[in-house]
Amino acid sequence: MNSFDLIIIGAGPGGYPLALRQAQKGWKVAVVEADQVGGTCLNWGCIPTKALLASAKGLHFLHQAGKLGLTVENVGFAWDRVQARKDEVVRQLRGGIEKLFEKAGVTLVRGVGTLQSPHRVAIAPTPGAKDASSPSSCPANEIEGQRICLAVGSVPGVPASFPQDRSLFWTSDEALHCKEIPASLLVVGGGVIGLELGQVFAQFGSKVTVVEMMPQILPGLDTATAKRLLPVFKKAGLEILVGQKVEGLQIEGGRVVCQIGGAVRTFDRALLAIGRRPNLRCLEGSPLSLDRDGPFLKVNERFETSQPGVYAIGDAIRGPMLAHKATYDAETLARQWNGEPVTPDYSAVPSCVYTYPEIAWVGMSEEEAQKRGLAYTVGRFLFSANGRALAMAEGDGQVKVLVDADGRLLGAVLWGPEASDLIMEPTIWRALNLDKHGMERLIHPHPTLSEAFLEAYENALGRNLHG
Ligand SMILES: Cc1cc2nc3c(=O)[nH]c(=O)nc-3n(C[C@H](O)[C@H](O)[C@H](O)COP(=O)(O)OP(=O)(O)OC[C@H]3O[C@@H](n4cnc5c(N)ncnc54)[C@H](O)[C@@H]3O)c2cc1C
Repeated sequence: MNSFDLIIIGAGPGGYPLALRQAQKGWKVAVVEADQVGGTCLNWGCIPTKALLASAKGLHFLHQAGKLGLTVENVGFAWDRVQARKDEVVRQLRGGIEKLFEKAGVTLVRGVGTLQSPHRVAIAPTPGAKDASSPSSCPANEIEGQRICLAVGSVPGVPASFPQDRSLFWTSDEALHCKEIPASLLVVGGGVIGLELGQVFAQFGSKVTVVEMMPQILPGLDTATAKRLLPVFKKAGLEILVGQKVEGLQIEGGRVVCQIGGAVRTFDRALLAIGRRPNLRCLEGSPLSLDRDGPFLKVNERFETSQPGVYAIGDAIRGPMLAHKATYDAETLARQWNGEPVTPDYSAVPSCVYTYPEIAWVGMSEEEAQKRGLAYTVGRFLFSANGRALAMAEGDGQVKVLVDADGRLLGAVLWGPEASDLIMEPTIWRALNLDKHGMERLIHPHPTLSEAFLEAYENALGRNLHG
C-alpha cells in the first residue's frame, strides 16, 4: 500500500494550497480528487462566473460607450464563444495547478476517496470520469497517511422538496455550462450566486426575475446598502422581489410554472441558488463517524475533527463559504503543523459580489455593531465626488465605514467601480487594527478610487475635506 505523510481529499482552494505548502516542507503528500483540480472555485464557481461576468460587463460597457464619446456599431455576441472563452480560462488555470503538483512532487490520485480509518483512504473510480490518467496519478485502491485532511468542499443544496429535473431547474452547475440563453429565467435566491448569474443572463437577453425570501438581497450585507441597491439592479434589467416565496414549482408544457406572492408566473428555466451544503461523500459507507456542527464537520481551533489525525478545512467546516477563506484555513493549518502558535481569525474576511456595480464588505455591518452594543460613527463618501470615478464615467456608488472612538475600523461596505479590489484596503486596516495615528500615515495616490476610503474615514471622524 502507498503511504504518505499527508492525504488530502479534495483539490480545491483549500486542499491544493495545503498540499503545496506541506510538499514544500518535504512531506510526502497525496491529493485525492474525484473531479478536476481547482475544485468548485475553479471549475464550477469563482472563475467561470467571473469569466462570464467579464463578457457580460464588456457588452454592457459597449452599450454605454456613448458616455465616453465613443461610437460603436453592430454590438453583439456569440454565446458559444463566450462559453468557449470561459472554458479556456478554466483549462489554463487547471493546467497550472497540475504543473505545480508535478513540480512539488505531490501525488494526484484521481477517484472518489472514502475515509476507511483515521489513516486510510479507499479510492474508487469517479462514476463517468473520462480521463483518469495524469502524469502524477497513483492508481491504487487504498492509500495510507499519517494525517488526513478533508478539503471536500460543498455542492449545491437543493432540498428534496424542489423539482429535481436539472434540464429545467438548474443549479449553478447547469447554469454555468448552458448552451442557450433562456428567454426568461426565474432565479430562486437573491444571494451572491443568484445575483451574479442573474446579471449574466439578463445582460445576454433573458428576462430575469430574482426572488428572495428574506427581506433583503445578499444576507449579511449592510441593510441600508442592500436596500439602496434594489433600484440599481432594476435599472440594470433585473426584476428583484424581496420578502417573497416561490411556491408550487412545477413543469407545465415544458416550462417552469410557480406562484409568487399569489400570482402564477411562467419561466423558461429556473436557477435554484438557495445555498450550498458540505460534500460529505467521503463518509458515505465509512466505518468512521465524525461529529457535526449543523451540516458542517465539527473541528477545533487546530482544524481537527472529532477523530484525532483527521482534519477538515474550507467549505466543509463552519464559516464563510468562500475560496479565500478555504485558502486561509489551509495556510493557517500549514503554519500550525509547521510549529507556529496561530489560531484562525475570521474577523476580516472580505465578501465580494462581482456584479456591476460590484459590491464588497468586510467586518461588521451597522446592524451587527448595534446588536453588539458598540459605539461607532459612520462615514460616507459618494463616488460621484471622486475624480477618478467621474473620469471613468463610473460615478455611481458609495463607500460607508464604521469607526470606533479610537478611529479603528469596525466594518466597511462599498458598491461601485472595482469594489472587489478596493475592499482590500479596509481589510488591511481591520486586520492590522490600525488606529487614528496608523491611519494618518497612509498616503493615497491621486486620482484613485481608493481616495473614497480616505474621505469616508475622515467623514466618520467629522473632518473630511470634500463631500
Ligand atoms: C457559482 C459559484 C460562484 C462562486 N464564486 C465565488 C467567488 O467569487 N469568490 C469566492 O471566494 N468564492 C466563491 N464561491 C465559493 C467557492 O467556490 C468555495 O467557497 C470554495 O471553492 C471552497 O473551497 P474548498 O477547497 O473548501 O472546496 P471545493 O472548491 O468545493 O473543492 C472540494 C473538492 O473536493 C473534491 N471532493 C469532494 N469529496 C471528494 C471525495 N470523496 N473524493 C475525492 N474528491 C472529493 C471535489 O470534487 C472538489 O473538487 C463560488 C461558488 C459557486 C458555486
